Amino acid sequence: MSSIACYHATNVNQTAQILFPVNVPTAFDYAVPAGLDLARGDFVFAPIGKQMKLGVVWGFGTAEPGRELKSIVDRKATRPLSPDMLDFIDWTARYNGASLGNVLRMVIRNYKALDPSAIVTLYRPSGNSPKNLTPSRAAVLREGGPWPARASEAAARAGVSTGVVKGLVKAGGLVAESGPVDPPFPEPDADLLGRELTIGQKEAGEDLAAQIRTGRFNVSLLDGVTGSGKTEVYFEAVAEALRRGKQCLILVPEIALTQAGLRRFAERFGAEPASWHSQMGEAARRRVWREVAQGRCKLVVGARSALYLPFPKLGLIVVDEEHDTSYKQEEGVIYNARDMAVVRAHLSGHSVILASATPSLESLHNARNGKFAHIILPERPGAAVLPEIGLVDLKEHVPEKGKFLSQPLLDAIDVVTARGEQALLYLNRRGYAPLIICRSCGEKLKSPDTDSWLVQHKRTGRAMCHLTGFSMPMPRECPKCHTEDSLTSVGPGVERVAEEAQEAFPNARVEILSSDTAGNPAELAERMRRMEQGEIDILVGTQMVVKGHNFPKLTFVGVVDGDLGLAGGDPRAGERTYQTLVQVAGRAGRADKPGHALIQTHQPEHEALVALAAGDREMFIGVELAMREMLGLPPYGKLAAVIFWGPEAAKVDALAKKFLAAAPRADGIEILGPSEAPIGRLRGMFRRRLFVQAEASVNLSKYMATWRSKIRTASKYKIQIDIDPQSF
Ligand code: ADP
Repeated sequence: MSSIACYHATNVNQTAQILFPVNVPTAFDYAVPAGLDLARGDFVFAPIGKQMKLGVVWGFGTAEPGRELKSIVDRKATRPLSPDMLDFIDWTARYNGASLGNVLRMVIRNYKALDPSAIVTLYRPSGNSPKNLTPSRAAVLREGGPWPARASEAAARAGVSTGVVKGLVKAGGLVAESGPVDPPFPEPDADLLGRELTIGQKEAGEDLAAQIRTGRFNVSLLDGVTGSGKTEVYFEAVAEALRRGKQCLILVPEIALTQAGLRRFAERFGAEPASWHSQMGEAARRRVWREVAQGRCKLVVGARSALYLPFPKLGLIVVDEEHDTSYKQEEGVIYNARDMAVVRAHLSGHSVILASATPSLESLHNARNGKFAHIILPERPGAAVLPEIGLVDLKEHVPEKGKFLSQPLLDAIDVVTARGEQALLYLNRRGYAPLIICRSCGEKLKSPDTDSWLVQHKRTGRAMCHLTGFSMPMPRECPKCHTEDSLTSVGPGVERVAEEAQEAFPNARVEILSSDTAGNPAELAERMRRMEQGEIDILVGTQMVVKGHNFPKLTFVGVVDGDLGLAGGDPRAGERTYQTLVQVAGRAGRADKPGHALIQTHQPEHEALVALAAGDREMFIGVELAMREMLGLPPYGKLAAVIFWGPEAAKVDALAKKFLAAAPRADGIEILGPSEAPIGRLRGMFRRRLFVQAEASVNLSKYMATWRSKIRTASKYKIQIDIDPQSF
């Protein structure tokens, strides 16, 4: 603890700075009542405006004579936030240009968890068999435990709705009881026997465990081809941290947080980890928060926001699929959880593991220059081999008119399905067609108040905007020229590809995996189970299929549109496309049957696709890094975006110009724009954007904060700073 953290303010002349979890840039001064013993990080109640609010003691000062201060009212008798957590909040706010109070809100929005009077309802089997034992009720009794459990937990484990669990009480199969506190999470067992590792995996695991044993800050890049066993390997580091009495946090992309994934932890450590994601209920959230804050919950697997849980004894953070763009939070406090994980580990002095088959260029650069330890797994264990990747030039192999699958793809599907194996068709486009156009007048159906086309969804018979969620029944006539039956579908979505595959293979079982068909965890789990058990022959999927699933009978992957994502001027487009396609192709041949992949493209000469087909990652990285260096882009330089928005276009333009004119003078800074943002109009708001490029030596966060503080905006007009934007 630093000296400030131990500072106890008991003198009547002492003041305390209290930070509230609201949109405020700093902590406010309050008088400390006599006899109230306070430490930094304590939770206190104090008046703000007309309200009494919970805040956190941020620091201490001395009262200025004659200055009237409001007084703190009370202190909550719970564990204070640790000094490194306070530093982390401060760092996150300063680095990302966010307000301190908004960052605190991310940390303590579940503070009610600290209230010891919280009563919960728990369920356990009655021992009697229930009336009317339906299959879902049987699933609850079989898979809902460990008991006692909350309704939501038992339901999630059994893959049913919470109504089924509650229904079982009426039917006599379960009994409900009230408890003053949550049951603790079961203690993971570090030494429960794991899988037999290959020599390469064992060495990698030992290297990672050795990093943990240093007890100091360090970063390892675990760079292993798809299916090489990265999870098994980082389990060794988790085990080492647990043996040392530390808490471990595993960050995964939200979409990869499946029951199957959690079960792997349960098998390795004998206890299901706590999970943390955006769809969990308030009660489950409070339980995890409380148990983590008390240091009792040792293992958390969570989406990016889990990084802001108040772990008092963190010893390891793993960022799985570290290249994944979903680690970037784009709303509210804008931050990149992968980068902030490294910051947090640095402030708390422990290890971080970044794992990926396709690491980001930033991480590879840091591994090359020695900032990160580079741990490589070059092959799959056992008989599994990496899939062969081929390109199909669509200029040469033109699909039939109105169709999207070329002959080579159809042939490959034919071969694998005839062998009783599975094929995956990948297209990152939900719905039936991305564009609806009138044959008579050329009108394209547009989303109201937004620069985006409506997408045709045949399953639901609707036209939808994927940006705003707007949807309407598919119209019978053109809304402009009113010609009947003139609207036609342009381009493919997964529904259309599935329709085409079904026509070509009438006997095959074809299914779609997208957020429309598997929008909730239970539906997703059911699709995964059907795929794993071979109840599907051809799966047509969006990016939902890319992450973290093992389908042993999947031996062919067809990429319907390899060019999707290469369009536009974004210098990261090549990197993203390369990463996604390696990951998709990597779904094939993960067990003993070899797999292959074919990518349909109009640009077989594009360097990302050439490198993919040649299996030559080094070539691709070399070209990409050279380009970034030449342009002074990350990782060689720094970048920030500024987005302006508001209800009137002219005023947004004026605001952007005014902001530009206020730019502080500094060396090594270049400003580009303003220009229209990629989505120029969203829900009626006009958007403009400018970029700030800085040399590596510039403190860009500080520069942006100084700049931002010079301009005030009317309440309907907003300026948002995005440090290190994901697209540029
Ligand atoms: P990655 O995260 O690198 O894609 P996983 O850890 O998911 O790889 O492992 C891929 C598959 O190989 C999993 O089904 C896993 O259980 C299996 N596997 C990994 N290591 C071994 C091993 N040493 N022996 C047998 N199977 C293994």
